[in-house]
Amino acid sequence: MTRVDLAVALSRRSKILLSLPVLLPALLVIAWYLFTRHVPWKVPEQHQPPQTWRQPRTDGLELRSLGISGFELTDGTTTVLMDPTPTRPDPTALITGPIDPDLALGEKVCPRADVILINHSHYDHLLDAAVIAARTGALVVGSQNTVNFALSRGVAREKTRVVHAGDQLTIGAFTIDVRGSRHTDILVSQPMSGLISPTAGALWFWNYALDETLTYRLSAAGTTVWFHPTSTYEPGELDGLPAKTLIVGVTGEKQTRPKIDGLLSESKATRVLPTHYDNFFQPWERGLALMPGLNLDATRQLFLDANPKLEWGVLDLGESIALPPDAE
Ligand SMILES: [Zn+2]
Repeated sequence: MTRVDLAVALSRRSKILLSLPVLLPALLVIAWYLFTRHVPWKVPEQHQPPQTWRQPRTDGLELRSLGISGFELTDGTTTVLMDPTPTRPDPTALITGPIDPDLALGEKVCPRADVILINHSHYDHLLDAAVIAARTGALVVGSQNTVNFALSRGVAREKTRVVHAGDQLTIGAFTIDVRGSRHTDILVSQPMSGLISPTAGALWFWNYALDETLTYRLSAAGTTVWFHPTSTYEPGELDGLPAKTLIVGVTGEKQTRPKIDGLLSESKATRVLPTHYDNFFQPWERGLALMPGLNLDATRQLFLDANPKLEWGVLDLGESIALPPDAE
C-alpha cells in the first residue's frame, strides 16, 4: 500500500467512525425490522437437492438438517450432532434476559446423540448442546469454552472433550479429524470473544463467548463429510483432507471465487451443502426463513462456475438426505 492509499484508507475510516453515532441507531432499527419479520421461504427449484440425494439410505450415511448450522449425521448405529440448536430465541428474548434451551423442542428435534461437535461457542451453535448431552449421554466435543459451558450445565467431565486443530477422535464407526478455522469478522475480529466459566450461571446471549473456531472432517461407512460452517477460509485450512461432501457456511464474510477454489481443491468435494442461511432469529416452529440480504443464488453460481459438475442442495428444516459411500 502506498502512502496515498494509506491516507485515503485512514480518512475513510475516520469518516465512518465519525458517522457512527448517527448510523448505528438507524442500522439497529433497520436490522430489528428485517430480522424480526417472518418471511416464509420455500427452497426454490434451483437450490433443491438432486433426486439422488433423496433416495433412502441403504449404505453410507444419512444427514438431517437441524437448522442454522446444525446437522445430524448417522450410519444407523452412531449419531453425530453438529451445532444442534433447535432453540432460536427471537430478538426480544435475546435482549430482555438470559437465554435458555427449550428442552422439549430439543428432545423432539434431536432425539438421539452419541457425540456433539461444536464449531464455536456463540449461542447460535451451542445453546442446546449441554441439555441434549445430559439427556442422551452424548460426548460434547469442542473448544475449552464449549466444554466449560457443558460442565456448567451439569454434563459430567468424562462426557466432554476439549479438542484443537490436528486432533483425531474415533466414535463408533466415525473417524473425526479436527482442524482450525476463523470466525467471520463482525465489525471486529473475534467478535464477542472471552471466557465461559465452568461454573457459569444464567447467560445472556453475549456471554456465550467465542474462543477457538473448529471444523471437522467426518468419515464412516465409506462416506466422508467436511463440516465447515464458517464462511472464512485460509489456504491449507483443510489440511488436504478430502471429503466428497462439503457443508460450508455462506453467511458472514462473503464467499468468493478464490475461497471456493481453495475449499474445493483441498477437499475434492463434489457435493456442496451451504449452511447458516436461515434467519435464526425466527423460532423453529415458524419454518424456514432466509437470512435477510443473503444472495444464495450468487453463491451457488460461484460454486458452479468453479466446478460445473458440482451437486448443490439446500435443505429445509428437518430435511434428511442420503450420502452414499464416496466411491458410488
Ligand atoms: Zn458466531
